[in-house]
Amino acid sequence: MKLNQNYANLQESYLFLTIAKKVAAYTEAHPDNHIIRMGIGDVTQPLVPAVIEAMHKATDEMAHKETFHGYSPDQGYDFLREAIQGYYAKRGVALKLSEIFVGDGAKSDVGNIVDIFADDNTVLIPDPVYPVYVDTNVMSGRKVIYLDANEQNGFLGMPDENVKADIIYLCSPNNPTGAVYNRAQLKAWVDYALKNNAVILFDAAYESFITHDDLPHSIFEIEGAKKCAIEFCSFSKTAGFTGVRCGYTVICDELVSDGTKVNTLWARRQATKFNGVNYITQRAAEAVFTDEGQQQVKDVINYYRANAKVMVDAFKEMGVWFTGGENSPYIWHKVPDGMTSWEFFDYLLNEAEVVGTPGSGFGKNGEGFFRLTAFGTLEKTQEAMERLKKLLKK
Ligand SMILES: *Cc1c(COP(=O)(O)O)cnc(C)c1O
Repeated sequence: MKLNQNYANLQESYLFLTIAKKVAAYTEAHPDNHIIRMGIGDVTQPLVPAVIEAMHKATDEMAHKETFHGYSPDQGYDFLREAIQGYYAKRGVALKLSEIFVGDGAKSDVGNIVDIFADDNTVLIPDPVYPVYVDTNVMSGRKVIYLDANEQNGFLGMPDENVKADIIYLCSPNNPTGAVYNRAQLKAWVDYALKNNAVILFDAAYESFITHDDLPHSIFEIEGAKKCAIEFCSFSKTAGFTGVRCGYTVICDELVSDGTKVNTLWARRQATKFNGVNYITQRAAEAVFTDEGQQQVKDVINYYRANAKVMVDAFKEMGVWFTGGENSPYIWHKVPDGMTSWEFFDYLLNEAEVVGTPGSGFGKNGEGFFRLTAFGTLEKTQEAMERLKKLLKK
């Protein structure tokens, strides 16, 4: 037996482990601490009533022979795919049901999609980045090149005609930077992909945090994108499903490589290696799209948005450079001159008892930056910003 040697090329991720260790050490030395955690990338508000009601109802259905459900259809139940189709239609994006794949979350689909692409593709990945994109390509031994996102381009890397990539990962609104591509910028990426016969893997996990009407929620709002993009979305951040597990992937029939529809390959891959999302969860996800469900999840997102607004106002007042916060639950800010991301982590923990995430943990371009999240409570977010102002206000 031989192991997949590519796993030896994975970079060890000590980011969240190191944070946990540092916080534990501080807590032990200061038992009466008042630490505020702003490093979490998980939601904290409970599922909304419409979702809970649908789950209860579906659970009861499972108890009776007449309404029991076994295996789900491969791509998900029609009732959920129709609800997703309706959600896209509201933005003027027409999808066929066969173009929508219900899955157990965006992480699985973003990670597994590499199965259907040849190993000798060149993959372009932004730096800093959500680590799943890099690691899944390293596991299959693909060549990865990086797209620099930095202060100069507002952490929104743009295509370079001199760089030849076959597979491009984009995440907008972005984790970790909170930056969002506008229509013209996404159009430039679509044009590049069409010209270079490349595919864009578009992660839209945070689309529902977009507030500005002119920013695209879906890459399919851009002309030509159906021919060159795959979109991944999730109920995790939009409806608090991080522990429930449900997401969806969209691959349109227009996306073709050498005469083969990419949709067909993914359908085959899923039918072979995945046996569907459970009925109760799909009913819960369907409830997110009802008028009642939409209003309720909007209220929850508005709660996180209010936290983000408190953070945006504080950083503006402090005069510290940042991205995000306006269409995203993340604020990505510059650390004080002369400090590394980790030095700032220690400084913030020791002087303000606030915990965040060092930007350097997301890639080399993250050095000198820091991520704070809006997934806490309003009271704690306000308190944390008061402490930061005392520390950083010029
Ligand atoms: C949270 C997150 C997801 C969602 O993952 P799930 O598996 O659906 O919970 C996807 N992409 C990014 C960048 C994320 O931060």
